[in-house]
Amino acid sequence: MSCPICRKSAVPEYRPFCSRRCADVDLARWLRADYAIPVPLTDAEDDTPDGDAQQPPESR
Ligand SMILES: [Zn+2]
Repeated sequence: MSCPICRKSAVPEYRPFCSRRCADVDLARWLRADYAIPVPLTDAEDDTPDGDAQQPPESR
């Protein structure tokens, strides 16, 4: 498994990261993204009623 931050080999102590720094970077990035996106991405987009209407009529 490689570190998602710098792609280096991860160490068991900080898995999946290679060091505490990368773990902190990922945490900060995650928190920032959480604040930047008020509405979390969910499967709700698939519930749009227009979903079926946009599909091409391939069923003959
Ligand atoms: Zn790293």
